[in-house]
Amino acid sequence: MTSAQPEKKKALAYRQTGQPDTLVNVGANVCFGAEKIVLIGGPCAVESQKQITDTARAVAEAGAVMLRGGAWKPRTSPYDFQGLKEEGLLMLAQARQETGLPIVTEVLDPRDVEKVGEVADMLQIGSRSVQNFPLLREVGISGKPVLLKRGMMTTIEEWLDAAEYVLAAGNSNVVLCERGIRTFDTALRNTLDVCAVAVLKHITHLPVIVDPSHAAGDFRYVVALARAAVAVGADGLLVESHWRPAEALSDANQSLTPGQFQELTTECRAVATAIGRTL
Ligand code: PEP
Ligand code: MN
Repeated sequence: MTSAQPEKKKALAYRQTGQPDTLVNVGANVCFGAEKIVLIGGPCAVESQKQITDTARAVAEAGAVMLRGGAWKPRTSPYDFQGLKEEGLLMLAQARQETGLPIVTEVLDPRDVEKVGEVADMLQIGSRSVQNFPLLREVGISGKPVLLKRGMMTTIEEWLDAAEYVLAAGNSNVVLCERGIRTFDTALRNTLDVCAVAVLKHITHLPVIVDPSHAAGDFRYVVALARAAVAVGADGLLVESHWRPAEALSDANQSLTPGQFQELTTECRAVATAIGRTL
C-alpha cells in the first residue's frame, strides 16, 4: 500500500477496484491510453509560420501524430520571449491544416481558456500552473482534453489533486505528463521520475505520458529518456523538436533536430514492440 491509495474524497482521479483505463481522444485519430503510444512533437514555442509548419511536417514524417508549440510561454524572466500569443495560435491552426496533426498548446491565464480552446485540440497546463486552481477549474468547464504537466515540486498526490479539479468540473479528458522534478542532483535540468509513471499506471485510470525534453534539458539525453519512458509504460511522449535548434527562441539546448527526432521514433518503436505496444 502506498500513501496515495484511493480515498473517497479523491474518487474521480484514483482508480477504483477493477476500473479500466480511461481513454482520452483528441481530434479524429489520436487516442491516449490505448495500445498505441502517442508521439507528440514540435517546438517549445511557435516562432513563425515557416518554423511551425516546417517542424510540423518534419515530426509528422518521423511518426508524430500530434503537434505541440507554445503561443503563450511561461518564462522565468519577464524579459525573455513570451510567445506570439494570438498570432501564434493562428500559425498553429495553419500548420494543422497543412499536416492534419491536432494541436496541443499551453494556456496560462484562466481568461484565455475560451480563446485558446477555440483553436487548440488539447489544452496544456504547464508545470508552473499545476496548482493554479482557477485555471484548472476553467479548463475543466471547457470540456477540452487537458494535458496536465507535473509541477517541478509536486508530489504524485498533489498532482492527482490538481487533476481532480479538472475532473470535478465535469471534464474527464485528462492526460498526466511527467516532465522531471527538482531533486538534489544538478547534472541535468530536472530528474525524470520514471517511478511516478509506474505508480500512476497503478493508482489512476488516467493516461500518463512523459516529456523527456524538459526532464533532461539537454538534447543528448532526450532519446535515452524517451526509451526509458516507453519501457516503464508511458502512454505517450511529448518531445521538443525544432527545424533549426540553434535558432530556437526558447529551450534550444533540449530541442531535437528532425533527424534526431526520427532516431527517437525508431528506437522507441523497438522498445514499444518489445513490450507489446505500438508507436
Ligand atoms: C513546455 O512544454 O514548453 C513547458 C514550458 O513545459 P513545462 O511546463 O513542463 O516546463
Ligand atoms: Mn519548452
